Amino acid sequence: MSSRTDMLARLQDQTEYDLIIIGGGITGCGVAYEAAARGVRVLLLEQGDFASGTSSRSTKLIHGGIRYLKQMDFRLVREGVQERQNLIAAAPYLVHPIQFVYPVHAGDPDPFWALRIGMMLYDWYAGRSNLLRHKVYPGKTVLAEEPNLREDGLQGAGLYADCLTDDARLTVEVARAAARKGAVLLNYMRVDRFLYHADGRMAGVVATDLLSGGEPIQVTGKAFLNATGPWADVIRRLDEPGCEPTVRTTKGVHITVPHDRLPIKRPVVMHAADKRLMFAVPRDGFTYLGTTDTDYEGDPAALTVDESDVTYILAATNRTFPRAHLTLEDVVSAWAGLRSLAATGGGLKPSQVSRDYRLHTSKSGLVSVAGGKLTAFQAMARSVLRTVLPHLSVGELPLDLPGIARGSQPADFALLAREAGLPAGAPQELWARHGCEVPLVLEQMDPEVDDARARMLAAEAVFAVRHEFAVTLTDALNRRTAQMLFSRDNGMRSVEVVAGAMGRLLGWSEEERASQVAAYRAEVARMMNWRSRSIGD
Ligand code: FAD
Repeated sequence: MSSRTDMLARLQDQTEYDLIIIGGGITGCGVAYEAAARGVRVLLLEQGDFASGTSSRSTKLIHGGIRYLKQMDFRLVREGVQERQNLIAAAPYLVHPIQFVYPVHAGDPDPFWALRIGMMLYDWYAGRSNLLRHKVYPGKTVLAEEPNLREDGLQGAGLYADCLTDDARLTVEVARAAARKGAVLLNYMRVDRFLYHADGRMAGVVATDLLSGGEPIQVTGKAFLNATGPWADVIRRLDEPGCEPTVRTTKGVHITVPHDRLPIKRPVVMHAADKRLMFAVPRDGFTYLGTTDTDYEGDPAALTVDESDVTYILAATNRTFPRAHLTLEDVVSAWAGLRSLAATGGGLKPSQVSRDYRLHTSKSGLVSVAGGKLTAFQAMARSVLRTVLPHLSVGELPLDLPGIARGSQPADFALLAREAGLPAGAPQELWARHGCEVPLVLEQMDPEVDDARARMLAAEAVFAVRHEFAVTLTDALNRRTAQMLFSRDNGMRSVEVVAGAMGRLLGWSEEERASQVAAYRAEVARMMNWRSRSIGD
Protein backbone atom coordinates (compact mmCIF):
# COMPACT_ATOMS: atom_id res chain seq x y z
CA MET A 1 0.00 0.00 0.00
CA SER A 2 1.27 3.47 -0.85
CA SER A 3 -1.17 6.01 0.50
CA ARG A 4 -0.08 9.11 2.38
CA THR A 5 -1.81 7.69 5.47
CA ASP A 6 0.32 4.52 5.23
CA MET A 7 3.42 6.67 4.99
CA LEU A 8 2.48 8.72 8.07
CA ALA A 9 2.00 5.47 9.99
CA ARG A 10 5.44 4.26 8.88
CA LEU A 11 6.95 7.56 10.01
CA GLN A 12 5.59 6.96 13.53
CA ASP A 13 7.33 3.56 13.64
CA GLN A 14 10.80 4.80 12.89
CA THR A 15 12.83 7.54 14.53
CA GLU A 16 16.19 7.46 12.77
CA TYR A 17 17.03 7.01 9.10
CA ASP A 18 20.20 6.10 7.21
CA LEU A 19 19.34 8.61 4.51
CA ILE A 20 17.00 11.62 4.50
CA ILE A 21 16.17 13.02 1.05
CA ILE A 22 14.64 16.45 0.51
CA GLY A 23 12.66 16.73 -2.75
CA GLY A 24 10.25 14.31 -4.41
CA GLY A 25 10.98 14.86 -8.09
CA ILE A 26 12.50 12.12 -10.24
CA THR A 27 15.94 12.69 -8.68
CA GLY A 28 14.84 12.26 -5.06
CA CYS A 29 12.47 9.39 -5.85
CA GLY A 30 15.13 7.67 -7.99
CA VAL A 31 17.68 7.83 -5.17
CA ALA A 32 15.04 6.68 -2.66
CA TYR A 33 14.38 3.61 -4.81
CA GLU A 34 18.01 2.74 -5.42
CA ALA A 35 18.82 3.13 -1.71
CA ALA A 36 15.77 1.33 -0.30
CA ALA A 37 16.29 -1.55 -2.74
CA ARG A 38 19.69 -2.08 -1.06
CA GLY A 39 18.24 -2.14 2.45
CA VAL A 40 18.97 1.48 3.36
CA ARG A 41 16.39 3.07 5.72
CA VAL A 42 15.20 6.03 3.64
CA LEU A 43 12.95 8.98 4.41
CA LEU A 44 11.98 11.34 1.56
CA LEU A 45 10.16 14.62 2.24
CA GLU A 46 8.47 16.61 -0.53
CA GLN A 47 6.89 20.03 0.07
CA GLY A 48 4.21 19.65 -2.62
CA ASP A 49 2.99 16.62 -4.49
CA PHE A 50 5.51 14.16 -5.94
CA ALA A 51 6.63 15.50 -9.35
CA SER A 52 4.99 18.87 -8.74
CA GLY A 53 8.30 20.64 -9.56
CA THR A 54 10.23 20.18 -12.79
CA SER A 55 9.45 16.49 -13.00
CA SER A 56 5.93 17.08 -14.36
CA ARG A 57 6.97 20.00 -16.57
CA SER A 58 9.51 18.53 -18.97
CA THR A 59 9.26 17.76 -22.70
CA LYS A 60 8.34 14.23 -21.56
CA LEU A 61 11.02 12.53 -23.64
CA ILE A 62 13.20 9.64 -22.63
CA HIS A 63 16.05 10.45 -24.95
CA GLY A 64 19.78 10.50 -25.54
CA GLY A 65 19.54 14.15 -26.54
CA ILE A 66 20.61 14.24 -30.16
CA ARG A 67 21.29 17.96 -29.89
CA TYR A 68 23.98 17.43 -27.25
CA LEU A 69 26.13 15.70 -29.91
CA LYS A 70 26.71 19.14 -31.38
CA GLN A 71 28.04 20.28 -28.00
CA MET A 72 30.39 17.22 -28.08
CA ASP A 73 28.73 16.06 -24.84
CA PHE A 74 29.28 12.41 -25.86
CA ARG A 75 29.21 11.03 -22.30
CA LEU A 76 25.78 12.56 -21.70
CA VAL A 77 24.40 11.22 -24.99
CA ARG A 78 25.81 7.72 -24.50
CA GLU A 79 24.42 7.55 -20.97
CA GLY A 80 21.05 8.90 -22.16
CA VAL A 81 20.72 6.41 -25.00
CA GLN A 82 21.73 3.48 -22.78
CA GLU A 83 19.38 4.52 -19.97
CA ARG A 84 16.62 4.93 -22.57
CA GLN A 85 17.17 1.32 -23.66
CA ASN A 86 17.07 0.16 -20.02
CA LEU A 87 13.80 2.02 -19.40
CA ILE A 88 12.13 0.60 -22.52
CA ALA A 89 12.70 -2.82 -20.97
CA ALA A 90 11.90 -1.87 -17.37
CA ALA A 91 8.86 0.35 -17.92
CA PRO A 92 7.25 -0.57 -21.27
CA TYR A 93 3.88 0.88 -20.21
CA LEU A 94 5.44 4.27 -19.46
CA VAL A 95 8.24 4.57 -22.00
CA HIS A 96 7.18 4.32 -25.64
CA PRO A 97 9.73 4.14 -28.48
CA ILE A 98 8.84 6.20 -31.51
CA GLN A 99 10.66 7.60 -34.53
CA PHE A 100 11.25 11.34 -34.56
CA VAL A 101 11.35 13.28 -37.83
CA TYR A 102 14.31 15.65 -38.15
CA PRO A 103 13.87 17.82 -41.25
CA VAL A 104 16.78 19.90 -42.54
CA HIS A 105 16.02 23.14 -44.37
CA ALA A 106 18.41 25.51 -46.11
CA GLY A 107 19.81 27.90 -43.50
CA ASP A 108 19.36 25.48 -40.56
CA PRO A 109 22.30 25.40 -38.15
CA ASP A 110 23.30 21.79 -38.94
CA PRO A 111 23.92 20.43 -42.44
CA PHE A 112 22.26 17.21 -43.52
CA TRP A 113 25.54 15.24 -43.45
CA ALA A 114 26.05 16.19 -39.77
CA LEU A 115 22.59 14.87 -38.93
CA ARG A 116 23.42 11.58 -40.66
CA ILE A 117 26.59 11.15 -38.57
CA GLY A 118 24.66 12.07 -35.42
CA MET A 119 21.98 9.48 -36.12
CA MET A 120 24.58 6.77 -36.80
CA LEU A 121 26.28 7.53 -33.48
CA TYR A 122 22.93 7.46 -31.73
CA ASP A 123 22.19 3.97 -33.11
CA TRP A 124 25.66 2.78 -32.23
CA TYR A 125 25.26 3.88 -28.58
CA ALA A 126 21.95 1.99 -28.41
CA GLY A 127 23.67 -1.25 -29.45
CA ARG A 128 21.88 -4.42 -30.44
CA SER A 129 18.74 -3.74 -28.40
CA ASN A 130 17.84 -0.84 -30.72
CA LEU A 131 14.79 -1.94 -32.69
CA LEU A 132 14.16 1.33 -34.53
CA ARG A 133 17.28 2.16 -36.51
CA HIS A 134 17.59 5.52 -38.21
CA LYS A 135 16.36 6.16 -41.73
CA VAL A 136 17.22 8.87 -44.25
CA TYR A 137 14.74 10.71 -46.50
CA PRO A 138 16.58 12.55 -49.26
CA GLY A 139 15.20 15.78 -50.71
CA LYS A 140 11.50 16.24 -50.18
CA THR A 141 10.57 12.55 -49.86
CA VAL A 142 9.73 13.00 -46.17
CA LEU A 143 6.63 14.94 -47.23
CA ALA A 144 4.95 11.59 -47.88
CA GLU A 145 5.28 10.99 -44.10
CA GLU A 146 4.63 14.51 -42.79
CA PRO A 147 2.90 16.48 -45.57
CA ASN A 148 2.47 19.65 -43.46
CA LEU A 149 6.20 20.33 -43.21
CA ARG A 150 7.58 23.44 -44.89
CA GLU A 151 8.51 22.46 -48.44
CA ASP A 152 10.47 25.55 -49.24
CA GLY A 153 14.21 24.88 -48.75
CA LEU A 154 13.68 21.30 -47.54
CA GLN A 155 16.94 19.44 -48.18
CA GLY A 156 16.17 16.11 -46.55
CA ALA A 157 15.14 14.54 -43.27
CA GLY A 158 16.21 11.85 -40.87
CA LEU A 159 14.10 9.48 -38.79
CA TYR A 160 15.72 8.53 -35.49
CA ALA A 161 14.39 6.74 -32.43
CA ASP A 162 13.71 8.13 -28.95
CA CYS A 163 10.87 7.64 -26.48
CA LEU A 164 7.84 9.46 -25.12
CA THR A 165 6.78 9.20 -21.50
CA ASP A 166 4.51 10.71 -18.87
CA ASP A 167 7.06 12.36 -16.59
CA ALA A 168 4.74 12.80 -13.60
CA ARG A 169 3.54 9.21 -13.71
CA LEU A 170 7.06 7.88 -14.12
CA THR A 171 8.08 9.81 -10.99
CA VAL A 172 5.09 8.59 -8.97
CA GLU A 173 5.66 5.00 -10.09
CA VAL A 174 9.30 5.22 -8.98
CA ALA A 175 8.13 6.69 -5.63
CA ARG A 176 5.71 3.76 -5.21
CA ALA A 177 8.47 1.31 -6.11
CA ALA A 178 10.65 2.89 -3.41
CA ALA A 179 7.81 2.59 -0.86
CA ARG A 180 7.44 -1.09 -1.77
CA LYS A 181 11.12 -1.55 -0.88
CA GLY A 182 10.47 -0.02 2.55
CA ALA A 183 11.20 3.71 2.03
CA VAL A 184 9.01 6.29 3.73
CA LEU A 185 7.99 9.00 1.26
CA LEU A 186 5.81 11.90 2.36
CA ASN A 187 4.35 14.56 0.10
CA TYR A 188 3.15 17.92 1.46
CA MET A 189 5.93 17.83 4.06
CA ARG A 190 8.25 20.83 3.80
CA VAL A 191 11.77 20.85 5.26
CA ASP A 192 12.30 24.16 7.06
CA ARG A 193 15.60 23.79 8.86
CA PHE A 194 18.37 21.43 9.88
CA LEU A 195 19.61 20.02 13.19
CA TYR A 196 23.32 19.58 13.95
CA HIS A 197 25.62 17.56 16.21
CA ALA A 198 27.97 19.52 18.48
CA ASP A 199 30.83 19.05 15.96
CA GLY A 200 28.79 20.70 13.16
CA ARG A 201 27.78 17.52 11.33
CA MET A 202 24.17 17.43 10.17
CA ALA A 203 21.96 15.43 12.53
CA GLY A 204 18.39 15.86 11.34
CA VAL A 205 15.66 17.93 9.76
CA VAL A 206 12.70 19.92 11.03
CA ALA A 207 9.71 19.69 8.72
CA THR A 208 6.12 20.95 8.58
CA ASP A 209 3.16 18.83 7.55
CA LEU A 210 1.40 21.30 5.26
CA LEU A 211 -1.87 19.36 5.40
CA SER A 212 -2.32 18.86 9.14
CA GLY A 213 -1.06 22.30 10.15
CA GLY A 214 0.26 20.64 13.32
CA GLU A 215 3.52 21.08 15.21
CA PRO A 216 6.74 20.75 13.16
CA ILE A 217 8.28 17.28 13.28
CA GLN A 218 11.93 16.46 13.91
CA VAL A 219 13.60 13.45 12.32
CA THR A 220 17.20 12.38 12.69
CA GLY A 221 19.40 10.76 10.07
CA LYS A 222 22.94 9.74 9.21
CA ALA A 223 23.18 11.09 5.66
CA PHE A 224 21.31 13.90 3.89
CA LEU A 225 20.56 14.60 0.26
CA ASN A 226 19.26 17.87 -1.14
CA ALA A 227 17.41 16.84 -4.33
CA THR A 228 15.33 19.97 -4.70
CA GLY A 229 16.36 20.90 -8.26
CA PRO A 230 15.52 24.59 -8.81
CA TRP A 231 15.30 25.07 -5.03
CA ALA A 232 18.76 23.56 -4.44
CA ASP A 233 20.37 26.86 -3.41
CA VAL A 234 17.43 27.77 -1.13
CA ILE A 235 18.03 24.55 0.82
CA ARG A 236 21.80 24.98 0.74
CA ARG A 237 21.40 28.40 2.35
CA LEU A 238 19.46 26.85 5.24
CA ASP A 239 22.70 24.95 5.89
CA GLU A 240 25.28 27.54 4.79
CA PRO A 241 23.69 31.01 4.91
CA GLY A 242 25.13 33.33 2.27
CA CYS A 243 26.79 30.57 0.20
CA GLU A 244 27.46 31.27 -3.48
CA PRO A 245 24.79 29.99 -5.89
CA THR A 246 25.58 26.73 -7.70
CA VAL A 247 22.45 26.65 -9.81
CA ARG A 248 21.34 28.76 -12.78
CA THR A 249 17.62 28.34 -13.37
CA THR A 250 16.19 28.66 -16.87
CA LYS A 251 12.55 28.54 -17.80
CA GLY A 252 11.12 26.13 -20.36
CA VAL A 253 7.54 26.48 -21.59
CA HIS A 254 5.36 24.07 -23.56
CA ILE A 255 1.93 24.60 -25.07
CA THR A 256 -0.69 22.16 -26.34
CA VAL A 257 -3.02 22.45 -29.35
CA PRO A 258 -5.67 19.97 -30.54
CA HIS A 259 -4.07 17.35 -32.79
CA ASP A 260 -6.37 18.21 -35.69
CA ARG A 261 -4.84 21.71 -35.72
CA LEU A 262 -1.38 20.18 -36.21
CA PRO A 263 -1.95 16.59 -37.36
CA ILE A 264 1.57 15.12 -37.23
CA LYS A 265 2.07 11.35 -37.15
CA ARG A 266 5.36 11.46 -35.28
CA PRO A 267 7.30 13.90 -33.11
CA VAL A 268 9.01 16.48 -35.30
CA VAL A 269 12.16 18.48 -34.58
CA MET A 270 11.64 22.19 -35.29
CA HIS A 271 14.02 25.13 -35.49
CA ALA A 272 13.00 28.56 -34.24
CA ALA A 273 14.10 31.66 -36.19
CA ASP A 274 16.96 32.08 -33.67
CA LYS A 275 18.06 28.53 -34.65
CA ARG A 276 17.09 26.94 -31.32
CA LEU A 277 15.85 23.37 -31.56
CA MET A 278 12.32 22.54 -30.41
CA PHE A 279 9.81 19.69 -30.66
CA ALA A 280 6.25 19.12 -31.84
CA VAL A 281 4.93 15.94 -30.19
CA PRO A 282 1.61 14.15 -30.83
CA ARG A 283 -0.10 12.78 -27.70
CA ASP A 284 -3.62 11.63 -26.79
CA GLY A 285 -5.48 13.71 -29.40
CA PHE A 286 -3.22 16.76 -28.95
CA THR A 287 0.09 18.07 -30.22
CA TYR A 288 2.35 19.72 -27.70
CA LEU A 289 5.06 22.17 -28.65
CA GLY A 290 8.18 23.46 -26.97
CA THR A 291 10.34 24.39 -25.34
CA THR A 292 11.74 27.83 -24.59
CA ASP A 293 14.98 28.42 -22.67
CA THR A 294 15.30 31.77 -20.89
CA ASP A 295 16.98 32.78 -17.64
CA TYR A 296 14.67 32.99 -14.62
CA GLU A 297 15.67 34.44 -11.27
CA GLY A 298 12.39 34.63 -9.34
CA ASP A 299 10.78 32.27 -6.84
CA PRO A 300 10.45 28.82 -8.49
CA ALA A 301 6.94 28.50 -7.04
CA ALA A 302 5.83 31.72 -8.79
CA LEU A 303 6.83 30.55 -12.29
CA THR A 304 4.17 31.21 -14.93
CA VAL A 305 3.76 31.05 -18.69
CA ASP A 306 3.95 34.46 -20.40
CA GLU A 307 2.36 35.49 -23.66
CA SER A 308 5.85 36.08 -25.13
CA ASP A 309 6.68 32.39 -24.45
CA VAL A 310 3.54 31.30 -26.29
CA THR A 311 4.07 33.58 -29.30
CA TYR A 312 7.71 32.43 -29.59
CA ILE A 313 6.63 28.77 -29.70
CA LEU A 314 3.80 29.46 -32.13
CA ALA A 315 6.16 31.37 -34.45
CA ALA A 316 8.63 28.46 -34.50
CA THR A 317 5.80 26.03 -35.19
CA ASN A 318 4.25 28.10 -37.99
CA ARG A 319 7.75 28.42 -39.48
CA THR A 320 8.07 24.62 -39.62
CA PHE A 321 4.42 23.99 -40.57
CA PRO A 322 3.35 27.08 -42.56
CA ARG A 323 -0.09 25.72 -43.42
CA ALA A 324 -1.04 25.32 -39.74
CA HIS A 325 -1.56 29.06 -39.09
CA LEU A 326 -1.70 28.42 -35.35
CA THR A 327 -2.80 31.34 -33.18
CA LEU A 328 -3.08 32.06 -29.46
CA GLU A 329 -6.70 30.89 -29.64
CA ASP A 330 -5.63 27.32 -30.53
CA VAL A 331 -3.77 26.79 -27.25
CA VAL A 332 -5.64 24.54 -24.80
CA SER A 333 -3.04 24.07 -22.09
CA ALA A 334 0.47 25.18 -21.18
CA TRP A 335 3.15 24.43 -18.62
CA ALA A 336 6.41 26.00 -17.48
CA GLY A 337 9.32 24.20 -15.85
CA LEU A 338 12.68 25.24 -14.47
CA ARG A 339 15.96 23.65 -15.48
CA SER A 340 18.61 23.78 -12.78
CA LEU A 341 21.85 24.17 -14.69
CA ALA A 342 25.39 24.65 -13.40
CA ALA A 343 26.01 28.29 -12.50
CA THR A 344 28.97 28.55 -14.91
CA GLY A 345 29.34 32.30 -14.81
CA GLY A 346 30.96 32.06 -18.25
CA GLY A 347 28.44 34.08 -20.26
CA LEU A 348 27.00 31.01 -21.99
CA LYS A 349 23.48 31.16 -23.45
CA PRO A 350 21.04 28.95 -21.47
CA SER A 351 20.86 26.35 -24.28
CA GLN A 352 24.69 26.10 -24.39
CA VAL A 353 25.02 25.03 -20.74
CA SER A 354 25.53 21.28 -20.26
CA ARG A 355 22.54 19.27 -19.03
CA ASP A 356 24.79 17.01 -16.96
CA TYR A 357 24.34 16.80 -13.18
CA ARG A 358 26.67 18.00 -10.46
CA LEU A 359 27.13 17.23 -6.77
CA HIS A 360 28.18 19.53 -3.97
CA THR A 361 28.97 18.46 -0.40
CA SER A 362 28.80 21.04 2.37
CA LYS A 363 30.94 21.12 5.53
CA SER A 364 28.06 19.66 7.53
CA GLY A 365 27.76 16.73 5.12
CA LEU A 366 24.68 17.82 3.15
CA VAL A 367 25.05 16.56 -0.42
CA SER A 368 23.24 18.67 -3.04
CA VAL A 369 22.52 17.39 -6.53
CA ALA A 370 21.36 19.59 -9.35
CA GLY A 371 20.82 19.27 -13.07
CA GLY A 372 20.57 16.03 -14.97
CA LYS A 373 17.74 14.58 -16.98
CA LEU A 374 14.64 12.58 -16.33
CA THR A 375 16.02 9.96 -18.73
CA ALA A 376 19.16 9.20 -16.74
CA PHE A 377 17.59 9.19 -13.29
CA GLN A 378 18.76 5.69 -12.40
CA ALA A 379 22.38 6.20 -13.43
CA MET A 380 22.35 9.54 -11.63
CA ALA A 381 20.81 7.96 -8.51
CA ARG A 382 23.57 5.35 -8.34
CA SER A 383 26.23 8.00 -8.78
CA VAL A 384 24.63 10.13 -6.03
CA LEU A 385 24.52 7.12 -3.70
CA ARG A 386 28.24 6.50 -4.15
CA THR A 387 28.83 9.99 -2.75
CA VAL A 388 26.13 10.06 -0.07
CA LEU A 389 26.68 6.55 1.26
CA PRO A 390 30.25 5.70 0.17
CA HIS A 391 30.29 2.35 2.00
CA LEU A 392 27.26 1.01 0.14
CA SER A 393 27.91 -1.37 -2.72
CA VAL A 394 26.13 0.15 -5.72
CA GLY A 395 25.90 -2.14 -8.73
CA GLU A 396 23.02 -2.12 -11.19
CA LEU A 397 19.63 -3.32 -9.94
CA PRO A 398 16.48 -3.95 -11.99
CA LEU A 399 13.80 -1.26 -11.69
CA ASP A 400 10.85 -3.05 -10.11
CA LEU A 401 7.87 -0.79 -10.97
CA PRO A 402 4.35 -1.62 -9.71
CA GLY A 403 2.76 -1.69 -13.19
CA ILE A 404 5.33 -3.96 -14.79
CA ALA A 405 4.35 -7.44 -15.96
CA ARG A 406 6.32 -8.91 -18.81
CA GLY A 407 4.24 -9.13 -21.98
CA SER A 408 1.25 -7.19 -20.63
CA GLN A 409 -0.40 -5.03 -23.32
CA PRO A 410 -3.53 -2.87 -23.75
CA ALA A 411 -5.47 -5.60 -25.59
CA ASP A 412 -5.38 -7.72 -22.38
CA PHE A 413 -7.83 -5.26 -20.84
CA ALA A 414 -10.20 -4.73 -23.78
CA LEU A 415 -12.89 -7.09 -22.48
CA LEU A 416 -12.70 -5.72 -18.95
CA ALA A 417 -13.01 -2.14 -20.24
CA ARG A 418 -15.94 -3.06 -22.49
CA GLU A 419 -17.75 -4.72 -19.58
CA ALA A 420 -17.17 -1.55 -17.57
CA GLY A 421 -18.85 0.44 -20.36
CA LEU A 422 -15.71 2.37 -21.27
CA PRO A 423 -15.02 3.68 -24.80
CA ALA A 424 -12.75 1.90 -27.30
CA GLY A 425 -9.62 3.94 -26.53
CA ALA A 426 -9.79 3.32 -22.77
CA PRO A 427 -7.61 0.16 -22.58
CA GLN A 428 -4.70 1.93 -24.31
CA GLU A 429 -5.11 5.06 -22.18
CA LEU A 430 -5.36 3.12 -18.92
CA TRP A 431 -2.49 0.78 -19.76
CA ALA A 432 -0.21 3.74 -20.53
CA ARG A 433 -0.83 4.99 -17.00
CA HIS A 434 -1.15 1.79 -14.97
CA GLY A 435 0.39 -1.13 -16.87
CA CYS A 436 -0.70 -4.45 -15.42
CA GLU A 437 -2.58 -2.70 -12.59
CA VAL A 438 -5.50 -1.75 -14.89
CA PRO A 439 -7.84 -4.39 -13.32
CA LEU A 440 -7.08 -3.02 -9.83
CA VAL A 441 -7.99 0.46 -11.06
CA LEU A 442 -11.24 -0.72 -12.66
CA GLU A 443 -12.21 -2.43 -9.39
CA GLN A 444 -12.56 1.06 -7.90
CA MET A 445 -15.27 1.98 -10.41
CA ASP A 446 -18.63 3.22 -9.13
CA PRO A 447 -21.38 1.82 -11.45
CA GLU A 448 -23.78 4.51 -10.23
CA VAL A 449 -21.88 7.18 -12.20
CA ASP A 450 -23.49 7.55 -15.66
CA ASP A 451 -20.77 9.41 -17.54
CA ALA A 452 -18.23 6.76 -18.64
CA ARG A 453 -15.24 9.10 -18.73
CA ALA A 454 -15.99 10.60 -15.31
CA ARG A 455 -16.50 7.04 -13.98
CA MET A 456 -13.07 6.01 -15.24
CA LEU A 457 -11.30 9.11 -13.91
CA ALA A 458 -13.02 8.80 -10.54
CA ALA A 459 -11.84 5.16 -10.33
CA GLU A 460 -8.31 6.30 -11.13
CA ALA A 461 -8.53 9.04 -8.51
CA VAL A 462 -9.66 6.56 -5.85
CA PHE A 463 -6.79 4.25 -6.84
CA ALA A 464 -4.46 7.25 -6.68
CA VAL A 465 -5.54 8.01 -3.10
CA ARG A 466 -5.24 4.38 -2.01
CA HIS A 467 -2.00 3.49 -3.80
CA GLU A 468 -0.33 6.55 -5.34
CA PHE A 469 -0.11 9.06 -2.45
CA ALA A 470 -2.69 11.45 -3.98
CA VAL A 471 -4.44 13.76 -1.51
CA THR A 472 -5.80 16.65 -3.52
CA LEU A 473 -8.04 16.90 -6.57
CA THR A 474 -5.18 18.53 -8.49
CA ASP A 475 -2.90 15.58 -7.65
CA ALA A 476 -5.48 13.29 -9.26
CA LEU A 477 -6.51 15.35 -12.29
CA ASN A 478 -3.12 16.82 -13.12
CA ARG A 479 -0.26 14.53 -12.15
CA ARG A 480 -2.00 11.09 -11.93
CA THR A 481 -4.28 11.28 -14.98
CA ALA A 482 -2.90 14.23 -17.05
CA GLN A 483 -6.40 15.63 -17.61
CA MET A 484 -5.38 19.19 -16.92
CA LEU A 485 -2.98 19.20 -19.88
CA PHE A 486 -4.37 16.60 -22.26
CA SER A 487 -8.16 16.88 -22.37
CA ARG A 488 -10.24 19.42 -24.29
CA ASP A 489 -12.00 20.63 -21.15
CA ASN A 490 -8.88 20.41 -18.90
CA GLY A 491 -10.75 17.78 -16.88
CA MET A 492 -13.56 20.23 -15.94
CA ARG A 493 -16.38 17.93 -17.08
CA SER A 494 -15.39 15.28 -14.54
CA VAL A 495 -14.26 17.51 -11.73
CA GLU A 496 -17.38 17.19 -9.55
CA VAL A 497 -17.61 13.40 -9.89
CA VAL A 498 -13.91 12.93 -9.13
CA ALA A 499 -14.11 15.31 -6.16
CA GLY A 500 -17.13 13.37 -4.84
CA ALA A 501 -15.31 10.02 -5.08
CA MET A 502 -12.12 11.32 -3.45
CA GLY A 503 -14.09 13.19 -0.79
CA ARG A 504 -15.97 10.04 0.30
CA LEU A 505 -12.69 8.20 0.71
CA LEU A 506 -10.82 11.00 2.44
CA GLY A 507 -13.74 12.15 4.61
CA TRP A 508 -14.00 15.66 3.09
CA SER A 509 -16.76 17.89 4.42
CA GLU A 510 -18.95 19.63 1.84
CA GLU A 511 -16.88 22.76 2.44
CA GLU A 512 -13.62 20.91 1.85
CA ARG A 513 -14.98 19.31 -1.32
CA ALA A 514 -15.99 22.72 -2.68
CA SER A 515 -12.62 24.18 -1.78
CA GLN A 516 -10.81 21.33 -3.61
CA VAL A 517 -12.90 22.01 -6.73
CA ALA A 518 -12.18 25.74 -6.45
CA ALA A 519 -8.44 25.07 -6.03
CA TYR A 520 -8.41 22.91 -9.16
CA ARG A 521 -10.30 25.51 -11.17
CA ALA A 522 -7.85 28.16 -9.95
CA GLU A 523 -4.91 25.98 -11.04
CA VAL A 524 -6.38 25.64 -14.54
CA ALA A 525 -7.03 29.40 -14.67
CA ARG A 526 -3.44 30.12 -13.55
CA MET A 527 -2.14 27.88 -16.33
CA MET A 528 -3.97 30.03 -18.89
CA ASN A 529 -3.42 33.39 -17.15
CA TRP A 530 -1.14 34.63 -19.94
CA ARG A 531 -4.26 34.74 -22.14
CA SER A 532 -6.23 37.11 -19.90
CA ARG A 533 -3.07 39.21 -19.46
CA SER A 534 -2.63 39.42 -23.23
CA ILE A 535 -6.28 40.39 -23.79
CA GLY A 536 -6.05 42.98 -21.00
CA ASP A 537 -2.88 44.60 -22.43
P1 FAD B 1 12.22 18.63 -9.35
O1 FAD B 1 11.34 17.75 -10.14
O2 FAD B 1 12.03 20.08 -9.51
O3 FAD B 1 12.03 18.21 -7.84
C1 FAD B 1 12.50 19.00 -6.76
C2 FAD B 1 11.45 18.94 -5.67
O4 FAD B 1 11.97 19.50 -4.48
C3 FAD B 1 10.19 19.73 -6.02
O5 FAD B 1 9.10 18.84 -6.18
C4 FAD B 1 10.02 20.67 -4.83
O6 FAD B 1 8.67 20.85 -4.44
C5 FAD B 1 10.84 19.98 -3.76
N1 FAD B 1 11.27 20.89 -2.68
C6 FAD B 1 11.78 22.14 -2.81
N2 FAD B 1 11.99 22.69 -1.60
C7 FAD B 1 11.60 21.78 -0.67
C8 FAD B 1 11.56 21.76 0.77
N3 FAD B 1 11.95 22.82 1.51
N4 FAD B 1 11.10 20.65 1.39
C9 FAD B 1 10.68 19.57 0.69
N5 FAD B 1 10.68 19.55 -0.69
C10 FAD B 1 11.15 20.63 -1.35
N6 FAD B 1 14.72 15.56 -19.09
C11 FAD B 1 14.56 14.50 -19.92
O7 FAD B 1 15.15 13.45 -19.70
N7 FAD B 1 13.72 14.55 -20.99
C12 FAD B 1 13.08 15.68 -21.35
O8 FAD B 1 12.31 15.69 -22.30
C13 FAD B 1 13.28 16.83 -20.54
N8 FAD B 1 12.68 17.99 -20.85
C14 FAD B 1 12.79 19.06 -20.05
C15 FAD B 1 12.13 20.24 -20.38
C16 FAD B 1 12.14 21.32 -19.52
C17 FAD B 1 11.42 22.57 -19.88
C18 FAD B 1 12.85 21.22 -18.29
C19 FAD B 1 12.83 22.36 -17.35
C20 FAD B 1 13.55 20.07 -17.97
C21 FAD B 1 13.54 18.99 -18.86
N9 FAD B 1 14.22 17.81 -18.56
C22 FAD B 1 14.09 16.71 -19.38
C23 FAD B 1 15.01 17.67 -17.34
C24 FAD B 1 14.20 16.99 -16.24
O9 FAD B 1 12.85 17.38 -16.29
C25 FAD B 1 14.79 17.34 -14.89
O10 FAD B 1 16.16 16.98 -14.90
C26 FAD B 1 14.16 16.61 -13.73
O11 FAD B 1 12.76 16.65 -13.79
C27 FAD B 1 14.65 17.24 -12.43
O12 FAD B 1 14.08 16.54 -11.38
P2 FAD B 1 14.46 16.91 -9.88
O13 FAD B 1 13.88 15.85 -9.04
O14 FAD B 1 15.91 17.15 -9.77
O15 FAD B 1 13.77 18.32 -9.63
